[in-house]
This record gives sequence, structure tokens and C-alpha cells, in this order.
Amino acid sequence: MNSRIWLSPPHMSGMEEKYIREAFATNWIAPLGPNVDEFEHALSLYLEGNHITALASGTAAIHLALVMLDVKQGDEVIAPDFTFSATINPIIYQGATPLFVDSEMQTWNMDPVLLEEVILDRMKKNKKPKAIIFVEIYGMPANMEAIAEISLKYDIPLIEDSAEALGSRYNKRYCGTFGEMGILSFNGNKIITTSGGGALVSKNRDYTDKAKFLASQAKENTLHFEHLQVGYNYRMSNVLAGIGRGQMEVIGDRVASHRRINQTYREFLSDIPGLLFQSEPEEKYFSNFWLTSVIFSEPGEPVNAQSVIRALGADNIDSRPLMKPMHMQPVFKDYPAYLNGHSEYLFSHGLSLPSGSNMSDQDIERIVAGIRSAGGAK
Ligand SMILES: *Cc1c(COP(=O)(O)O)cnc(C)c1O
Repeated sequence: MNSRIWLSPPHMSGMEEKYIREAFATNWIAPLGPNVDEFEHALSLYLEGNHITALASGTAAIHLALVMLDVKQGDEVIAPDFTFSATINPIIYQGATPLFVDSEMQTWNMDPVLLEEVILDRMKKNKKPKAIIFVEIYGMPANMEAIAEISLKYDIPLIEDSAEALGSRYNKRYCGTFGEMGILSFNGNKIITTSGGGALVSKNRDYTDKAKFLASQAKENTLHFEHLQVGYNYRMSNVLAGIGRGQMEVIGDRVASHRRINQTYREFLSDIPGLLFQSEPEEKYFSNFWLTSVIFSEPGEPVNAQSVIRALGADNIDSRPLMKPMHMQPVFKDYPAYLNGHSEYLFSHGLSLPSGSNMSDQDIERIVAGIRSAGGAK
């Protein structure tokens, strides 16, 4: 059996262990400490001086963003239909209702036209949404200009779920810095990892300071434990932040590798009938291409999403169907959904290809051969 090729495995730089050893040498095995400070500092430098709070996960970051925007029982929050469930779960934690908005085919992210329709429809029902969460799926920036304009026009704050999009840019500006707050994930499969972790990003320091407070049990500044608010235990561990420091030293290389892999797939697979890549629609979009993702627009062809997933699996190669839309998830199916058919189309026609920055050229050749074999050819 050939060795396993994973979808997006961790890729260490070699520097991580030095920072972890520092944590051990100084016995700083606690949550928080110098590695957390330095990791936040490195992220802040990378993200154009935005303020950062390192957290236990991206999901925790979304949860705190909703808490800080005072999203509570009975509120409605606009959210993408085509995303991972972690975008949605924190809305439910708050007792609020998600309103799912379908995608545009250009970027596969939230359709701005549909977004405005949803807002107008809810306002007609005297229910103005409390916040908008949008996502940059597989690293592709959303249509920021249109989404930001709608947010401004109706005065509804934006939360940018950039869990998959660290290093992506729109009009040269980094993803994660567009919303009132942005969130990042450092889960093991993301473009950089701390084994598990996340961060809250904001231009507004009040938010990142408040997040630090809430994420460490909302302890007031007294010698005894005094609490005026409900707190959370959401801060990042100083040991894991050491991994993050080592990863930040190579973030530029990681983004370049993912983009190179994407380009290689395009070159090797250009002749497959009906195959379309998730692509940057215009010059101003710059994707980190975290996961190279494709659709087969002619599923009657022998090489299609299902046959490719089967053929790759037979050669011990990991691939995954595109996101199953939120409105189709049994756990979320009863919430309002504003649909145009795109997310369902993507789900039934597409897949993500292995995109790890530590793949070798031979790995890519094996994957390409696997895709071709799905058509019955060798
Ligand atoms: C990974 C991911 C998250 C959650 O991040 P965790 O760090 O795993 O909690 C949220 N949204 C999207 C789109 C993701 O891909």
C-alpha cells in the first residue's frame, strides 16, 4: 500500500521545539506567558498592526465575538450556508437564530445580493439581524466591497470568519482585518497550526482587551476572585503558542507552497472535461489556496467528484466532498435559509484535493494519476 496522502496535515518548520523547550525551561506550562505574547505580537505584525487575542480555538473566537456584540436569546445572526459547522455553533450557544445565506458562484462565498434581500426581508418582519458572519471558504476572499457596503448601509456589524484564510488578501489587505472582528483558526489542518488554537483580530483594541478578560474567566481586578460577568476559559496555552511562534516564521512560505500546489494542479488537469477550479475572479482577490477545490460541471463524464473520491481513496489518498450546506444538516435544518441552489450544487459536484505544503512532487503526480484513473484511463 502506498503511504497515506492527507488533505492538509500539519507542517512544522523545526523552530517550534525551541519555543516549547523555552516554556519547559522556564516552567511556563500555564495558559498565557511569553510565548502567547510573542505569538500575538507576530500575528499583529503580519496583520498590519491589528490587535490580537490568542484563544483555545477558532470556535471560541467566534463565540466571544458574538458575546461582545451582545448577541443573545431571540436575536438573529446572518451566516453563510456554505461553511463548516463551527461558523454556526456559537450562534446556537448564545440561544440566537442563524439565518443561512447561500453563495455566489464567483467565490463560493456569501452572495451579497442575497445578503441584502435577507436583511430587507427580516426588517419587513421587524427583526433586524444583530450581526453578519461571513466566511472565506478554502481561503478564497469573499466579495468584501459589496459585503462591507451592505454592513455599513444597514449598520449591522461584520464578523469575518477567516479560519481558513490566513495569508489571503483582498485589494492587498489581509483577510481577518475587514470585519468589526475577524477570527483565525490554528487547528491541526489549517494553513498554520498550534495543534489546536484560534485568535480574535480587531482594529479596535477594546474588543481584543475584552476578549482577553472574558477568555480568562472574567476576573475583576481584585485580590480575591470577583466576578461581574459570566466568563470563559478560552485562552491559549503557553506551550501551544510556542508552536505558533515557530509557524509564524514560515507563514509566507506556507502560503507560497499552497499557491504553487494549486498552480500545479491547474497545469496537470487542464484537459479534464468539465473540471472547474475555485478561482480568483479578479486581480484584487488573492487566495492562500488552503485547500485546492474543484467542481465537475459535467457529472455525466466518467471523471466526476464521486469517481475521483473513490479512485483516490483506493490509492490511500485523502480527499473530501465540498462542504455540506448548513440548511441540509439535520441539526440546523429548521432555521431560516435563503437559497439560490449554489451551495447544493457545490456539495453535489465538487471536492477538495490534498493540499498540504509538505507534499512532494511525486505525491502530486500520484494524485493526478489517481484522478485520471477515475475515468478508466491510466
Ligand atoms: C476550522 C474552522 C473553524 C473553527 O476553528 P477551530 O479552531 O477548529 O475551532 C471555523 N470556521 C471555519 C470556516 C473553519 O474552517
